[in-house]
Amino acid sequence: MLLIFTDCFSTTYASARSKFVETAQAAGARLSQYAHPSAAGEFGEALSINVARLGNRSADRQLPVISGTHGQEGYAGAAAQVGWLLSSEASPVLKDVGVLLVHGLNPYGFSHGSRTTENNVDLNRNFVDHTRPYPENPGYETLHHALTPAVWSRESFDSVSRAEADLIEKEGADALFNALVAGQYSHPDGLLFGGNGREWSNVMLERILAEHFGHASKVAFIEWHTGIGDYGKPFFLSFNEPHSAELRQAALWWGGRIRCASSRDGTAGLSWTRLLRRTGVSSRSASCWSCHRVRHTGPGSGCGRDASGPLAALSWRSRQCGDTDPDAGGPAGLAQPCVLSMAAGGNRARRGTYRCGLERTRAVAKL
Ligand SMILES: [Zn+2]
Repeated sequence: MLLIFTDCFSTTYASARSKFVETAQAAGARLSQYAHPSAAGEFGEALSINVARLGNRSADRQLPVISGTHGQEGYAGAAAQVGWLLSSEASPVLKDVGVLLVHGLNPYGFSHGSRTTENNVDLNRNFVDHTRPYPENPGYETLHHALTPAVWSRESFDSVSRAEADLIEKEGADALFNALVAGQYSHPDGLLFGGNGREWSNVMLERILAEHFGHASKVAFIEWHTGIGDYGKPFFLSFNEPHSAELRQAALWWGGRIRCASSRDGTAGLSWTRLLRRTGVSSRSASCWSCHRVRHTGPGSGCGRDASGPLAALSWRSRQCGDTDPDAGGPAGLAQPCVLSMAAGGNRARRGTYRCGLERTRAVAKL
């Protein structure tokens, strides 16, 4: 167990991709690669989305498992994929279900340690209908100025905290949560920017789904993320409608511990359903994001239990300003644990990610 779960993790995008490809090949998967047409990785490497197909591709039931929608969260997601591949259950015993592992949906962010794509787009806010007016996010409007200062300083962080406190005082805690998770479409330089058109990763995902799922009648999505929930523990979010059969099905798969997010984050919640419709699949789909907090964050670190302004600001700062210095103290020292909290952390979190990946993939594939 110890060897397996530590072996699942990588420290660079390129090594994670190699590990995924080699492990999938050894498990008998059919592999395909979708090369990024323009962007390069942090070390100049070519970028791609890599796909491994296992099981029965003609089956009614299909299971896509996606890692790296938020780039730097890809390490944990890729580890969950590799962990399942390394188990003896991946293939060839899958007879009634097809499994499609999608590695590094946002390869630019994966390589550069960024949540966003090469265009500063938060990919899972990019699956809206771009032919219609974008959803408004007045809460974000009130925070944007504080979240994007020209220069970061202790005062900048304090002003983010003040802006958040003001919003909570005026409109309640839900207003802050919604401002920070719902995405925004008005500030391309800001946080949680959903884009003004479809990102390359968005278009590629539709192509991948169309190529593999045109015949499917039941599709279950697992998408791996990190960042919220208790340290080392899974945290399941479903974007199916409350009280729907799909949500009940998802709750069965995830062991009943599920939080329904569709009422709070409609933009992301619609994404899978819309993509499947576009690809011609008339299917029932039950979707779930699984998150792990992968690093301990102590008091005063700026990382609250939930998504917070400082955390979002630091994520942005990391992208704009390069690496943070953990020994610098002050804002840079504050930034480091927040940035790392989104990547793969210590062994307890890694073991939790590995176990959860294996158990939940197995539960959905009904092995
Ligand atoms: Zn995420």
